[in-house]
Amino acid sequence: MSDHEALKTVVSAIAAAEAKYGRNTGSVQLVAVSKRKEESDIRPVLSAGQRLFGENRVQEAMAKWPALRAHYPDIELHLIGPLQSNKSEEAVATFDAIQSVDREKIVRTLAAAMRDQGRDLPCLVQVNTGLEDQKSGIDPRQTGAFLEFCKAEGLTIDGLMCIPPQDENPGPHFALMRDLAEEHALPIRSMGMSGDYETAIQMGATHVRVGSAIFGARD
Ligand SMILES: *Cc1c(COP(=O)(O)O)cnc(C)c1O
Repeated sequence: MSDHEALKTVVSAIAAAEAKYGRNTGSVQLVAVSKRKEESDIRPVLSAGQRLFGENRVQEAMAKWPALRAHYPDIELHLIGPLQSNKSEEAVATFDAIQSVDREKIVRTLAAAMRDQGRDLPCLVQVNTGLEDQKSGIDPRQTGAFLEFCKAEGLTIDGLMCIPPQDENPGPHFALMRDLAEEHALPIRSMGMSGDYETAIQMGATHVRVGSAIFGARD
């Protein structure tokens, strides 16, 4: 990988951060965030070898990805944006993992959709580490109780996801999320975006979600 310059730069920077911070080679997965980007922007990234992508809207993913999957059957697509409960069936049919489980109602509708469709998608709980009103995610102090609820409803949770406040140093937020994941023995930690993924790798990210650094600015 690859003949896509921006992708190559990000992939190299991830490898360099793994080495610099004592992380195992290949221990950090790149989720290429293609929200609001056209198929014509995505195809070059696919042909350069990237297979793991993130989208934040169910309808947009349903419109874009079936055609791409027809050519690349090994694509893995993660939902990284807030989910409306009436879209759970479509989300379970469209995505391979849900990173944005953030409230009890979604736990119920996702678990029901997975039972209906006989699908068992990896799920992450989104944690609102900055306790921001406008941001999705559970209160970090509720993590244990929320995980218990998921378990009781039959939804398996594999890890945590967070988006730190825009105007703060992300380090302490990544550290809090890492500690919560460790405390609850959750192997997946999705944190870090274009501006801060190297810090996230330092803090133990297993997945970084990078959009604009690969695809350019969004409209
Ligand atoms: C848009 C988005 C990203 C990628 O953001 P960039 O700054 O473009 O890398 C990552 N995570 C989530 C949840 C997003 O919505």
